[in-house]
Amino acid sequence: MAWASSINAFFNNFKRESQILSEETITLIKTHIKSNNLQEALSVINNALKDIENAPLNIAVTGETGTGKSTFINAIRGVGQEDEGAAPTGVTETTMARTPYPHPKLPQVTLWDLPGIGSSSFTPENYLKEMRFHEYDFFIIISASRFKENDAQLAKAISRMKMNFYFVRTKIDNELYNEKKSKPKTFNKENVLKKIRKDCSQQLKEVLSGEPQIFLVSNFETSEYDFPILEQKLLKDLPDKKRYVFMLSLNSVTKEAINLKRDFLKQKVFLEALKSGAWATIPFVGMIRDELEDLDETFNQFRSYFGLDDASLQKIAKDFNISVNELKEHLSFPRLFAEDDDVSLLKKLQNYIERVSLGIIGGLGGAVYYYKKSYYLQNVFIDAAANDAIALLNKKDLFKEKMGPNISKPPDFWE
Ligand code: GDP
Repeated sequence: MAWASSINAFFNNFKRESQILSEETITLIKTHIKSNNLQEALSVINNALKDIENAPLNIAVTGETGTGKSTFINAIRGVGQEDEGAAPTGVTETTMARTPYPHPKLPQVTLWDLPGIGSSSFTPENYLKEMRFHEYDFFIIISASRFKENDAQLAKAISRMKMNFYFVRTKIDNELYNEKKSKPKTFNKENVLKKIRKDCSQQLKEVLSGEPQIFLVSNFETSEYDFPILEQKLLKDLPDKKRYVFMLSLNSVTKEAINLKRDFLKQKVFLEALKSGAWATIPFVGMIRDELEDLDETFNQFRSYFGLDDASLQKIAKDFNISVNELKEHLSFPRLFAEDDDVSLLKKLQNYIERVSLGIIGGLGGAVYYYKKSYYLQNVFIDAAANDAIALLNKKDLFKEKMGPNISKPPDFWE
């Protein structure tokens, strides 16, 4: 059957690390398809979708007050320090209670700010018990200087509970800045980073049996240093069913992360399409305005996943010192729904279908469900949002390069 081989081709098209279903689930679906057991295949897809959408994710962030926990929690969620729902930064902790920070776009994701173990009289085991360790998916242990013996003891206790932990050293930007100021002639970024890494692992090495990986980050520059590496590592270590929601929760500020999000979303809408019987032949017959408007909401959701929602655009425009409308001129998505632009949307869709049929996107070759409007429209949306997110990223880089860190006027390419 055409759709059967297309489904196979679709799954084979994504690399292992960007698949949203486990290998076992994919094999199971393929097996059912091979034996022509459509109902079984559908039921596996249905359950898998439910699993990945509803998977709760709880991330514990622990460290002494002042190390940058709150700033890290905001950075990983993509929440500005002054936004609503931001973890308050620069305040001294006085209680031993944990504080939950729900993700603004994904209610299933919560980051927990845990008071540092150093300021308590708890043993690592008691501390973990007090903090309800079994509720988290993993622990981030934060320090803004060297790690201490109690950080290492805590990590040891976490592993005894068969859970994962990650050491994150914050304020790397500060460190580099200070080194450069104090030793302008001999300053070498790589050497400074190497030295920090070495200093950080010393105490840990003595207590833990191996030398743990340490992620050097700046909470203000999340596309730099080890922030993207940390995100990738967390993604890789998570159980399959949690990866989708974690990826969506990240504030993607690298091209790789945006593309990964694009892959995840495409698989998701593909599975949704299969679930809703997209292989039925529903031919593509023109596109009327009303139908497009219904899809507005879906598209807004995708925009929000890629940080292109209205609130985010307002913030970006403010950073660039331009109006939101001027910013939108550099993006393609506003034109998808432009009042007088029906023709161009249709044209875009036609081009898209051609590209899909040529097997460039998704390797879907030949199956009838291309013609299911909402499926390929969603693909158009995902691509539009992802491409815009990448375009913005490039503009930001260019912007930084041109103007240096202290910017007061917009760069000329905006004019
Ligand atoms: P918490 O008490 O551990 O939650 O620490 P906060 O997040 O409140 O941060 C304490 C101070 O360090 C604040 O003034 C932050 O702006 C600053 N800070 C946090 N992370 C970084 C970072 O990566 N780089 C720099 N330069 N400052 C940071």
